[in-house]
Amino acid sequence: MLQDFTAMRLRRSTFDGMTGKSLQEFDTGAVLQEQLDYYRERAAEYDQWWLRQGRYDRGPGLNGQWFAEGAEVRRALAAFRPEGRILELACGTGISCEQLPPFAGRLTAIDGSREMPAINAQRLGSPMVRYVAADLFRWQPAADERFQTIFFGFWLSHVPPERFAEFWNLIDSCLAPGGRVFLVDSRYQETSTAVDHILPEPSATVLRRRLNDGREYRVYKIFYDRHELTERLAELGWSFEIRETTNYFIYGSGFRASREAAHG
Ligand code: SAM
Repeated sequence: MLQDFTAMRLRRSTFDGMTGKSLQEFDTGAVLQEQLDYYRERAAEYDQWWLRQGRYDRGPGLNGQWFAEGAEVRRALAAFRPEGRILELACGTGISCEQLPPFAGRLTAIDGSREMPAINAQRLGSPMVRYVAADLFRWQPAADERFQTIFFGFWLSHVPPERFAEFWNLIDSCLAPGGRVFLVDSRYQETSTAVDHILPEPSATVLRRRLNDGREYRVYKIFYDRHELTERLAELGWSFEIRETTNYFIYGSGFRASREAAHG
């Protein structure tokens, strides 16, 4: 069972279904830079995705479905009750941050772009939020900096597969004893993205995204199956319960179950 799973992950992580290239042919650093450039340029139009506007408008039926499923995730986040010092990774324009401060004493929100947190700060207007501009593939918490809650929305899917374990080590090093993590991300669903985005086969790891003005960028986008993700996290010593909405989102929460598996 575990072997089958590992083989599946290996296929997923080494093959880009869109271009037919092996992932090794991509320069990870170059794609990550392009990904960050994309979000910097997209900041002003980013919320159109969440609000189902412009190129993301799929008509009243599907839009309604999207909003209903988004509300389901928000209810789950409310039930999870973020508490203590909260860390949000890749905070973006604040779509999710909005849900966090009512629970928190203090929120630290990290993002690699300057443009996204600028919109976020306008939206939240809260002195309880501290913004940190940092590249999450380089950033480390200060030696005495630990968080009771860590949240990231639509970020794990942008972490290159070969950096998955490294990313979870970072989460571990940020988490206070007894701390908890909540994540939400995308399911593989054509109508979740813009009408002019081509969704490659599910095994693709790098795909192209377009801005309203037509400029194109490569980004990592890994669509996790919730069972595979749960199992992969268990291998790293995390206990997660991950659910999915009918079409669009996976979400769930977890904690560090064992340290032994972490760096093994
Ligand atoms: N979490 C937000 C949400 O739920 O809407 C935003 C998610 S958006 C898909 C990805 C975010 O990651 C953007 O805000 C982008 O600026 C940020 N980002 C991209 N590359 C990054 C990097 N290397 N380090 C930190 N943030 C990065």
